[in-house]
Amino acid sequence: MADGVLVGGRYGRMVVLGYSLVHHRWHCRCDCGTESHRTYHSLITTAEPMCIACYREVARKRGWGDYRVMPAIGIVTDRV
Ligand SMILES: [Zn+2]
Repeated sequence: MADGVLVGGRYGRMVVLGYSLVHHRWHCRCDCGTESHRTYHSLITTAEPMCIACYREVARKRGWGDYRVMPAIGIVTDRV
């Protein structure tokens, strides 16, 4: 298990609910209610971790390409 992630802690729009031994990732819930699993690395290195639904919303508002900046929010290899 990665060190440094606090259960209940907030990373961008995500709150950490616990560690998933099945996914080997942190189980997080976005402010919009969507739950997904994130790597420790993605939580601490991304400017604003959020779920895919929120990403698409932000990307559209900011005029980003659909998947161009996915790594910027920590969605790289996630199963959501
Ligand atoms: Zn969301």
